[in-house]
Amino acid sequence: MMKNRITELFGTEIPIIQAGMIWNSGWRLASAVANAGGLGLIGAGSMYPEVLREHILKCQKATNKPFGVNLPMLYPDIDKHINSIIELGVKIVFTSAGNPATWTGKLKDHGITVVHVVSSSKFAKKAEDSGCNAVVAEGFEAGGHNGREETTTLVLVPMVADAVKIPVIAAGGIGSGRAIAAVMALGAEGAQIGSRFVLSHESSSHINFKNAVAETKEGDTVLSLKKLNPVRLVKNKFYEQVKEAEDRGADTAELKEILGRARAKKGMFEGDLDEGELEIGQVAAAFKDIRPAAEIVRELWEECLEVRKKLCI
Ligand code: NDP
Repeated sequence: MMKNRITELFGTEIPIIQAGMIWNSGWRLASAVANAGGLGLIGAGSMYPEVLREHILKCQKATNKPFGVNLPMLYPDIDKHINSIIELGVKIVFTSAGNPATWTGKLKDHGITVVHVVSSSKFAKKAEDSGCNAVVAEGFEAGGHNGREETTTLVLVPMVADAVKIPVIAAGGIGSGRAIAAVMALGAEGAQIGSRFVLSHESSSHINFKNAVAETKEGDTVLSLKKLNPVRLVKNKFYEQVKEAEDRGADTAELKEILGRARAKKGMFEGDLDEGELEIGQVAAAFKDIRPAAEIVRELWEECLEVRKKLCI
């Protein structure tokens, strides 16, 4: 148990948040993390509206603890997702990849706690001004969608903590209790963790992707596709194709053509390790084993408490 502004905001026992990750985090993972005392998030970006509804309903059945939905604002049918969230009584929404001013007011009018994901202190301020209850400051190390400026978590978190009064959750490169303690020292009151939870039994990712993540070594991921939406992914055959095009100065139209449609699904959900887009953070290099989510949560928190004790001596 720990009391701070983040645990009070969400009603959780501990300030660990499992990131919403397209194709990786459905109701099974979100409810397992919630039942273990953290905040679980359903990643809505890859779900058709009826699929999200099903996941919310299943999550509500699987846990009495708080959980939320992560909503990337690039999502084509976002108003349908928003309606389901309101109608089904979801209490917490993490928005990302878009302007926080667009939906925060409506969600808050329905009593929903809104958190926005940012990669700069300028956008953190914008989220605060839009009425968000907290921000996630996500650094360059993170997997998936990422900021263009390449600001690392170590640099970003204190700057965001100084820029806003609302509580800050750190993300990007956090996969151990040591890292949770470190971001708390930087001014965060919570830690959002994605990659570590991909390697859980409850993550919906394809086993090929989980095994590939377990084999990832230092330097195996890269921030790519900066001319479109920057995304951190594994350097596989698909990435080499993108790199070859980028190196000879391909324009956005050609890059879009190469990216095509549903690359993320192909890689992470269908397990095509050559042709798919494999989104994961730098910290994946530190993980080797696929474990139950509750065990991951427990170990992260126990290690964090140990480190905090040692640092106080
Ligand atoms: P693409 O345009 O390449 O493909 C769309 C994918 O989303 C397909 O796989 C499709 O499933 C699925 N999908 C779910 N709902 C819809 C819908 N209503 N209309 C169309 N397609 C839908 O997109 P990406 O796979 O690159 O990204 C999908 C979403 O995930 C976007 O909203 C994007 O913003 C978000 N995203 C978030 C990331 C993050 O880090 N948070 C990283 C990357 C993407 P099917 O194949 O079954 O038709």
